[in-house]
Amino acid sequence: MTTTALAIHGGCGVLPLDSMSDADWAEARQDLGRALSAGWSVLKGGGTSVEAVEAAVVVMEDSPHFNAGHGAALNEDGIHELDASIMDGATLEAGALSAARGIRNPVRAARALMKDGRAVFLTGAAADDFAAQTGLQVMPQDYFTTPKRIEALAAMKAHAAAGTEASENEKHGTVGAVALDAAGHLAAATSTGGYTNKPAGRVGDTPVIGAGTYARDGVCAVSGTGKGEFFIRHVVGHEIAARVSYLGESLSQAAEHVVHVDLSGSSQTTGIVGAGLVALDGNGAVSAPYNTAGMFRGWVTPEGRAFVATHDEIHEVQP
Ligand code: ASP
Repeated sequence: MTTTALAIHGGCGVLPLDSMSDADWAEARQDLGRALSAGWSVLKGGGTSVEAVEAAVVVMEDSPHFNAGHGAALNEDGIHELDASIMDGATLEAGALSAARGIRNPVRAARALMKDGRAVFLTGAAADDFAAQTGLQVMPQDYFTTPKRIEALAAMKAHAAAGTEASENEKHGTVGAVALDAAGHLAAATSTGGYTNKPAGRVGDTPVIGAGTYARDGVCAVSGTGKGEFFIRHVVGHEIAARVSYLGESLSQAAEHVVHVDLSGSSQTTGIVGAGLVALDGNGAVSAPYNTAGMFRGWVTPEGRAFVATHDEIHEVQP
């Protein structure tokens, strides 16, 4: 029997439930549902897991509700610098780019780079030039800006001036997807604007293969969200794969250990790091742990049932 599965996230920096209207939450869930449908229709049509994760991430990059593409976070200079990557678990091929300033859908550029094959990772102007040469859409900076991101930057600067701590919502965001296709191949993709008020030129975990994004057939596919510096230090995606491969843990044991122990106040961290991820194993089992108040997420089970959630409450939707 062929099994297909899909899981997505829209970041672990979710507001407390009572701070947005029901209508706003419904809209965010609707965009998650649209991303799930985009990825699922690829898988149902016999497409590959790489195509499915790209399709799902593109929808979230185009939505203003998530920190990637349109609606991406602003850095300390008020500039959008975008990071993204994609990985094919069948071949271990990957494409990644960082600090791009104009690519409408960074995940598409990451996939084009993977296909091109001359480099795994391009940064800055070289990433933007590659996207333009490949015929991908390049946009002016203001395409990415939303009023919410301008407010978030002002709030982060006010926190920095006052020495106060920002909320998880002000700090986090990222989108990602993991998929298993009918041929048994896993893939992962992740895209982000990074965190609000980040230093110019800062690169997070999202484009770092093995940290924010990882896929290996028969083991797992992982896409993370949270303070990227810690995901890089803990090499989160590969750490989960290693626990599954070498310790023989189930995917959920491995993923939960990394989120709830390694990233939640172990001896190597200075306290709880806001973190979350979505992961699939080679049989299509889903794990989506997070240690913040919520995480935008959604998944389709191998039986074809689709669910979206922002906090603990889970909503079934049409895939
Ligand atoms: N992981 C992203 C980064 O550090 C941000 C996030 O998911 O909150 O760039």
